[in-house]
Amino acid sequence: MERLQKVIAQAGVASRRKAEELISEGRVTVNGEVVTELGTKVTPRKDKIEVDRVPIDREEPVYYILYKPTGVISSVSDDKGRKVVTDFFSNEFRLFPVGRLDYDTSGLLLLTNDGEFANILMHPKYKVTKMYVAKVQGVPSREKLKLLERGIMLEDGKTAPARVKFVSGNPKTGTSIIEISIHEGKNRQVRRMFEAIGHPVLKLKREMYGFLTLKGLNTGEARELRPHEVKQLR
Ligand code: URA
Repeated sequence: MERLQKVIAQAGVASRRKAEELISEGRVTVNGEVVTELGTKVTPRKDKIEVDRVPIDREEPVYYILYKPTGVISSVSDDKGRKVVTDFFSNEFRLFPVGRLDYDTSGLLLLTNDGEFANILMHPKYKVTKMYVAKVQGVPSREKLKLLERGIMLEDGKTAPARVKFVSGNPKTGTSIIEISIHEGKNRQVRRMFEAIGHPVLKLKREMYGFLTLKGLNTGEARELRPHEVKQLR
């Protein structure tokens, strides 16, 4: 027996909080009866659960790492018909991305059909470290990189301390390679941080998400997470 809101969230229908709202609003039925009590226990494979009279067919939860290429939208559909991250998977599961990478950012993106898992990972309180490799214009001074490390004022607030490592500078092309690790997820955060110190990002790739890396994957390839990896992320 599991709590109704958890089962709805795991079905990928809504976040757990949204599922609670759906229940309170009387939009959920169990075996044809409206249930408004949060925490009602159900047996997922036996009880017939419906939201707005549409059955939630609880899929087996699955978890993938995708090496997202650039030129792909981190979404399940795009009204302009551009390629989206779920195009790399069969339609067997209703996958969605955990957070997002910009259209022109490549690298590690998690996808799942487990709404609850995605919510946990995306919650600001749950500080997953994400490591990016940025190719930036110019060669930033140590002082400027220190500013990124300490936290920098953006229009939506100050960024939390980051880990920054200067990898190399190329005087010929006037560009540098820098690793930066952050645990927040503000919109276009890394690009805006480098912009703020006067060294715009030319290329951006997410190399790590927590302990997960892109090892063994080529661009556009995906692999399923191993059970112990899912457990460790939770
Ligand atoms: N920061 C960015 O600026 N872009 C991304 O895609 C991810 C983090």
